[in-house]
Amino acid sequence: MSFFDEGALVGVLTTQPLDRLLDYKAPEGGCHTGAFVEVPLGPRKVLGVVWDKGQGGYDPAKVRSVIRVLDAPPMRQEMQAFLTRAAEYTITPMPAMLRLATRSPGLGDPPSMRRVYRAGQGEPDRHTAARARVMDTLAEYGGLAFTLGELAELAGVSTSVVKGLVKQGVVAEEDSPRDLPFPVLDPGHGGVDLTPEQQAAADPIRAAVASGDYGTTLLKGVTGSGKTEVYLEAVAECLAKGRQALVLLPEIALTAEFLTRVEKRFGARPAEWHSGVTMTERRRTWKMTAEGGASLVVGARSALFLPYRDLGLVVVDEEHDTSYKQEDGVFYNARDMAVLRASICGAHVILASATPSLESWANAEAGKYSRVTLAARFGAAQMPDMRAIDMRDETLPSSRWISPSLQRAVTQRLERAEQSLLFINRRGYAPITLCRACGHQIGCENCDARMVEHRFLKRLVCHQCGETKPMPEACPSCEAKDRLAPVGPGVERLAEETAALFPEARIAVLSSDLYGSARALKEHILKIAEGQADIIIGTQLVAKGHNFPLLTLVGVIDADLGLQGSDLRAAERTFQLMRQVAGRAGRAEKTGTALLQTYQPDHPVIRAILSGDEDGFWRAEAAERQHAGVPPYGRMAGIVLSSPNVQEVFDLGTRMARKDGPLRQIGAQVFGPAPAPIARIRGRHRVRLLVKADKGAPVQDAVSRWIAQFKWPATLRVSIDIDPQSFY
Ligand code: ADP
Ligand code: ZN
Repeated sequence: MSFFDEGALVGVLTTQPLDRLLDYKAPEGGCHTGAFVEVPLGPRKVLGVVWDKGQGGYDPAKVRSVIRVLDAPPMRQEMQAFLTRAAEYTITPMPAMLRLATRSPGLGDPPSMRRVYRAGQGEPDRHTAARARVMDTLAEYGGLAFTLGELAELAGVSTSVVKGLVKQGVVAEEDSPRDLPFPVLDPGHGGVDLTPEQQAAADPIRAAVASGDYGTTLLKGVTGSGKTEVYLEAVAECLAKGRQALVLLPEIALTAEFLTRVEKRFGARPAEWHSGVTMTERRRTWKMTAEGGASLVVGARSALFLPYRDLGLVVVDEEHDTSYKQEDGVFYNARDMAVLRASICGAHVILASATPSLESWANAEAGKYSRVTLAARFGAAQMPDMRAIDMRDETLPSSRWISPSLQRAVTQRLERAEQSLLFINRRGYAPITLCRACGHQIGCENCDARMVEHRFLKRLVCHQCGETKPMPEACPSCEAKDRLAPVGPGVERLAEETAALFPEARIAVLSSDLYGSARALKEHILKIAEGQADIIIGTQLVAKGHNFPLLTLVGVIDADLGLQGSDLRAAERTFQLMRQVAGRAGRAEKTGTALLQTYQPDHPVIRAILSGDEDGFWRAEAAERQHAGVPPYGRMAGIVLSSPNVQEVFDLGTRMARKDGPLRQIGAQVFGPAPAPIARIRGRHRVRLLVKADKGAPVQDAVSRWIAQFKWPATLRVSIDIDPQSFY
């Protein structure tokens, strides 16, 4: 780390979209590299980091001074290296990377007292809707403190409503120091006795964490085998060494359950980092990771960009989950970035999953990752028995999706007071709304997508852009009245059918859009797990890690759904999803059964799911991808051009495909331009080019040089996705 005396030239990276460092003079008192600073830019003041020495070459009289050094721990060199390498890998401009690393409000404000508000003891003299919202908000966030503005905004009331409640003692007002360290976690607090198999898995991981060297372990084990217990042992080791640990989870809805587990294991709650955390807590977590006042962070993918002082372990739970891939702004995969960050700072990475991604499987096969496997479920729990229901042999009236065989199986569970889960990976009531008079299907005006009917919301919703509109009375095309009909099932429609078939049963629907908040959803899930429902109808949400001990039957309504996509990962996704869903059954003493409704029982993917031959499936899938030269055995980059002007995107796309010299130099091919699978989103036409190269080829460098040859109008946007996960 170098120090710059007052007046020395420094190169500052700002969060503004500029393609280079800007020269400034170091302020009074000088500054170090890594210092967070405020600098003048035109008439504005912007945030930046002293990145390097200045370039020079400008008239020294015109170079302005840094305004001030912020009172925040300077960025460590390791973080600079991480952001630089991540930017190179994802072909992202550095300012955008810096924005990811500074997502904390008031980052440079001095520590001080601030007034906070939390739940008090009193009762209000009078109940109003606004007051009730404040009280609900306080209850929803437990004991958390808010600033006045935050609380008012979250509750959707004016600050005077909160102040009124303060007078009555319903809300407590207190002064609290900002940014306190988090409670210390005790690695020896509440460990469980591991089974011999779990111990054998935990030992090498603990040793790897203790070594202080970089390494990655793939921790593979069926749902319920104790992966979480095992990686908490690694966290304990990391804490005992005095280093920081990060656990990434794919869903905010899973955090609450996990935090409780951490508290049981380590005696205190860790820091949290995700979109559901208040600004005040965000700022605290950001500062405390830098100062060492947070030893464990539990969060979403963006927690990888926190300024850890000494990161020793990163756990990526459910590492195959697609939510780790960010697909707007900066395109990155948190799993890959975790490995990158750990390799720079000497940390260990644990990738935990029952159904790893093919990428991780291949890295373990190649010996790049270590692998530990938990084969048995903890306690008496067994993997469910899996069978296909051949839909070609079932007789079903139209607009019904539960086959007689599945119906019988559910009835048996009802008689035995056990739970059943019916799984369909489609939100809403029906995917298509069709006019029976003219055949018109209602689509989104901004996108190339159908509108999905959501009866619960009483609206049509576009799953691409989120646009909603009321269900029209007449067909928008032929104006015929009362001829619009739903086609195909969604989770809400399946619930309707279930209620008609099993009128006595208590039915619960689990779909991410039916709940106001993550907490409401979590509470609902807990009640279901305790037995407050006989039949659970769920979307993908239920596949992710929740425990339902009374569940003994899983019925997959349409196992073929995922096999139809053009996506190269369609088979892998279906395999993972079906196994995850099936894993929900039989988690306690009773063995479970999973029934897959399919029209293609002989499809290789369905056969692999049924036989449970995981390695067989991976090997076949790997061979196929190797043959096709696609990831993980080849490299790909997806380039999407979008513009309101369709001619513009095709013109640029065609020019790009022709001038492919830099790509040809590395033996890469470019495909397209073609309309992207979703050819229009939010009124922008989308055209896609796909670059394919050999595994070892320097794709990023070639793509950067290729793109740099072109200029485009301001209305046109270009996004680059290295190792694309989805192809939309
Ligand atoms: P996974 O993460 O693989 O799904 P978990 O770690 O969540 O598995 O374990 C499943 C359940 O079994 C949890 O309730 C967990 O607390 C319990 N469990 C697992 N291993 C043990 C153990 N050695 N002692 C006590 N309970 C255990
Ligand atoms: Zn739309």
